[in-house]
Amino acid sequence: MCGIIGVENNENAAVLASAGMVTLQHRGEESAGITISGKEKMKTFTAMGLVSKIFNEDILLNKLSGTAAIGHVRYTTSAKSSLTNAQPFQMACIHGNIAVAHNGNITNFPKIKHELLKKGAIFNHTSDTEILLHLIAMSKGNLADIVASSMCKLEGAFSIVILRSKLLIGARDEHGFRPLVLGKIDNSYIIASESAAIEVIGGTYIRDIKPGEVILIENGKIQKSFLYKQSKKQNTCIFEQVYFSRPDSVMFGQTVKEARVKMGQFLALQMKDIKADIVMPVPDTGYFAALGFARASNILFENGFVRNHYVGRSFIKPSQNLRDVTARLKLRPIKEVVSGKEIILIDDSIVRGTTSKRLINLLKEYGVKKVHFAVSCPPVIGSCYYGIDTPDKEDLIAANNSVEKIRKYLEVDSLTFLSLENLVKSCSYGDKKDDVFCKSCFTGKYFTKISKNTYKEGC
Ligand code: AMP
Repeated sequence: MCGIIGVENNENAAVLASAGMVTLQHRGEESAGITISGKEKMKTFTAMGLVSKIFNEDILLNKLSGTAAIGHVRYTTSAKSSLTNAQPFQMACIHGNIAVAHNGNITNFPKIKHELLKKGAIFNHTSDTEILLHLIAMSKGNLADIVASSMCKLEGAFSIVILRSKLLIGARDEHGFRPLVLGKIDNSYIIASESAAIEVIGGTYIRDIKPGEVILIENGKIQKSFLYKQSKKQNTCIFEQVYFSRPDSVMFGQTVKEARVKMGQFLALQMKDIKADIVMPVPDTGYFAALGFARASNILFENGFVRNHYVGRSFIKPSQNLRDVTARLKLRPIKEVVSGKEIILIDDSIVRGTTSKRLINLLKEYGVKKVHFAVSCPPVIGSCYYGIDTPDKEDLIAANNSVEKIRKYLEVDSLTFLSLENLVKSCSYGDKKDDVFCKSCFTGKYFTKISKNTYKEGC
């Protein structure tokens, strides 16, 4: 879970990259970085924390002057969070100064790292992205061929932006697990994890970078674009549309918002026999599914939670006695909306089950009469090895319990998960009904060989 952006041929490259990174902030809040080049010697500035705090006017205008930039926002669990792993990574090698920013998870990282260590490579970071730098540095030929041959050695999920002087390269793994899109602003091309990052800075979304595609851009012109590997089947993460991506980003020809509205409409069909006073989302990700549900069922849509946006992930570690305080700090029910009501509560997903349990307890504390809990995706039964930070299988409530057992644990009157078929229908657009999605977290089936040693702590 990370966000990446690249901007070229623009005097305001660093400012545009940082604005795009603020737009991608939901993809990672722990560290952020920008590499700038094109005028002076390439340099990289990284720090822990939010983009808007790190990249102030002084840094952007005085310290990051250049015409090409790549940026990165990083999400990790706190144990692995450190400034050394903040990206982009920059190196000086035989091919010049090169920087890389990566979203995904290179599953064969330990094996390649071991091979590189045997050859004498020195590692400065613990992140999987660094192996790409080594592979590039040790290869010969032109940069396009080098990137292609390096990527051929990698397995798993990787959407990448690379910078060398004024040259911006974008590349996506052969399955297209994580998104990567191309856009334009004036005479500059932009590559970003999501289309919203391009549109917010005044650019126009052009198209998705194809699975297996490498694209090289310089001086406002696409120099070359080719497939480093022909993908057998596209497997783009469907959980991006369920939870991770911004609602205003376009995926498969429709906004993520529209996909979520459809998820809610399908849920309403699946629950057509259930009557309730109101439909209520768990903010923020449950919002559009609840809207779709309300439209399809004619049940009143109500917002019954107030979300506090100032509570950071690490504000209070929820020890036993502070758990209730923390729960109420983040989301507090509005008593007059929920008290005495029979509600349909909609959230995007149940992973460990702890969030839902706390919220339902809270609603009971505020006098709710009945809760029908609807989830806008199927039960999560498999851990993700392709770039979403999910817990190990042992901690996934649905991997170890039946739906009825989860219902009893949550103490709700009914529990409905969106079917996989309806989720796929919601995320496909128009005539494009092909199943182009990775659904491993819902099926437990993976596209690459997964073993106990498979690396899953990517970026
Ligand atoms: P839980 O069931 O307690 O693990 O939490 C599930 C909630 O966390 C859902 O409401 C989602 O909005 C959110 N969520 C889903 N996937 C993730 C993830 N990979 N990282 C952080 N939050 C997530």
